Amino acid sequence: MTTATQVREVLSTVTDPEIPVITIADLGILREVSVEGGRVTVTITPTYSGCPAMDEIRADITTALAAAGVDDVEVRTVLSPAWTTEWMTVQGRESLRAYGIAPPTVRAGGPVPLQLGRRRGAVDCPHCGSGATEELTRFASTSCTSLWRCTSCREPFDHFKDH
Ligand SMILES: [Zn+2]
Repeated sequence: MTTATQVREVLSTVTDPEIPVITIADLGILREVSVEGGRVTVTITPTYSGCPAMDEIRADITTALAAAGVDDVEVRTVLSPAWTTEWMTVQGRESLRAYGIAPPTVRAGGPVPLQLGRRRGAVDCPHCGSGATEELTRFASTSCTSLWRCTSCREPFDHFKDH
């Protein structure tokens, strides 16, 4: 008998095809898992239309569950409410930073800390932590990220765009 917890465990190995360090759960696109009479329904919400990875993610979910012996799977795509970077978990943000990608600046839950003297939407360098950064181009290696450069350590980096 398959449980939703087991399904979530299997799905914790499924990562974003464009950014392989972040799981679909940490990314916040895995919305719901339900099991009814042996049939597994997985609900996902795409990041945004610019991210063409949803077909791949859908296939990865089916493949991962099939490998775990779960064959009766329906992957449902729900567009509303729309995905937001606020759904990204703290673990997800840390994974991005460790990978050298500045996470979205929106903080998940709770009040946004007041940072005096900083421009709105400032992005910290994932390499040295400096806030002295500048955007180079809006579109970088993936459609979800933009290319930035740190003026302190001079390293370029990707920033996962707020959404
Ligand atoms: Zn830096």
